[in-house]
Amino acid sequence: MVKQVRISDSTINYEVVHRNIKYPRLEFKTGKLLLVLPEDYKDHNDIIEKHKDWIYKRNSEITAAVEKAQKKRLNYKRTDEEFKQSVHSIVENISDDLKINAGSIYFKSMKSKWGSCSPKRNLTINKLLKYLPDNLIEYVIFHEMVHLIERKHNKRFWNFISNKFHDYKNQEKELLEYWFLIQKVVDEP
Ligand SMILES: [Zn+2]
Repeated sequence: MVKQVRISDSTINYEVVHRNIKYPRLEFKTGKLLLVLPEDYKDHNDIIEKHKDWIYKRNSEITAAVEKAQKKRLNYKRTDEEFKQSVHSIVENISDDLKINAGSIYFKSMKSKWGSCSPKRNLTINKLLKYLPDNLIEYVIFHEMVHLIERKHNKRFWNFISNKFHDYKNQEKELLEYWFLIQKVVDEP
């Protein structure tokens, strides 16, 4: 059931789910706020109160991204084959750059992320990236491959990213915008 909370000048919709986890967490993975709570967690208002600044900030970023997304266009010209080839060559280049080796590369349609990197060093790339501009495809792959060096999103991780992508905050913003555009493709039959 969708609930609502008023923070400053915004009314924010959210949903609550209970899972077999130890600590509560907040997610904005699909653009909507989701409170994921341990099974026996009853009153969630304290969590909202505690994180209301973060919720407000994230919600504003997402609202702006949804708006900006309307001005962006997806690239429908790239074929699946072309996309896979270019991913493989980008991975090779980055391997040379960072002097690392990835395992296998898998392609999958994913609803919550652009890519992932497994502990076995395999990369999973979201097929939907094929609709995005080259520089963002490269950025996502680079991000996942830096995880072969540093698992966490810590300072060391972002140092690697910013060495190659000086304006990575813009790339992150753009990715968020494309995320909302892509949802339309996902919803189409
Ligand atoms: Zn990451």
